[in-house]
Amino acid sequence: MTRLVGKSALITGAARGIGRAFAAAYVAQGARVAIADIDIERARITAAEMGEAAIAVEMDVTRQDSIDSAIAQTVANLGQIDILINNAAIFTAAPLVEIDRSDAARVFDINVSGTLFTMQAVARHMIEKGIRGRIINMASQAGRRGEPLVAVYCATKAAVISLTQSAGLNLIPHGINVNAIAPGVVDGEHWNGVDAFFAKHEGKELGQKKAEVGAAVPYGRMGRPEDLTGMAVFLASDEADYIVAQCYNVDGGQWMS
Ligand code: NAD
Repeated sequence: MTRLVGKSALITGAARGIGRAFAAAYVAQGARVAIADIDIERARITAAEMGEAAIAVEMDVTRQDSIDSAIAQTVANLGQIDILINNAAIFTAAPLVEIDRSDAARVFDINVSGTLFTMQAVARHMIEKGIRGRIINMASQAGRRGEPLVAVYCATKAAVISLTQSAGLNLIPHGINVNAIAPGVVDGEHWNGVDAFFAKHEGKELGQKKAEVGAAVPYGRMGRPEDLTGMAVFLASDEADYIVAQCYNVDGGQWMS
């Protein structure tokens, strides 16, 4: 478990869910990790559970001052940033005719602009310090195709795939590899909210949508955060040095591309 020894990682939205699993996997591989989240209380609890290799950092990816301060705190505590995972995101869903402009703007602000400007600020740090770094963006199967009730979230994740391609091409001359991971359906607090939405809009029982989507996965069940950690470790490792501007599906066989 030594694939990331000596590396420092900043992971946004890491207080819970998939980001938390990434942080735990990175620590297990010898990295030091900044658990960056808008929910600083929960980030502190998560960091404490991981021991001395983890710190909690308050970060709202929609605010440039907060991005800059989170990076400064991470560098002050961990020395530098070798790996960034842009994981923070929120979900929204509505029939097209009911989409609210301010809700759509907020979701784009977090999922797209948050990813773009965190990537920009960390890339500036990496270039300035001559760090051959790694950036991993969290896309989704939702970014591969639209869904009838999920226009805004799907569009944000398609944008993340596109940003990964452009940033990947622009930053590889600096020795910075940018790639993305596209999960399918991953159980956790995020999906509890999705399930509740579909219960309301499709007249289902709570838990019914989860059971349906799990049964529809070729692997036979919903994903777990731990199912994604192998790819996140691999993309941050030396073995992934020649991988540039790609988006990998880790979804139990849901999507092929
Ligand atoms: P989650 O909702 O459990 O966790 C998201 C974290 O982001 C939370 O800790 C939250 O506090 C934080 N956050 C929200 N707004 C923020 C902001 N403005 N600044 C900083 N932090 C903020 O989500 P998850 O299920 O763990 O998903 C993690 C990533 O994986 C997301 O990018 C999500 O879109 C993607 N994804 C999830 C699934 C799934 O089925 N769960 C599927 C595909 C992709």
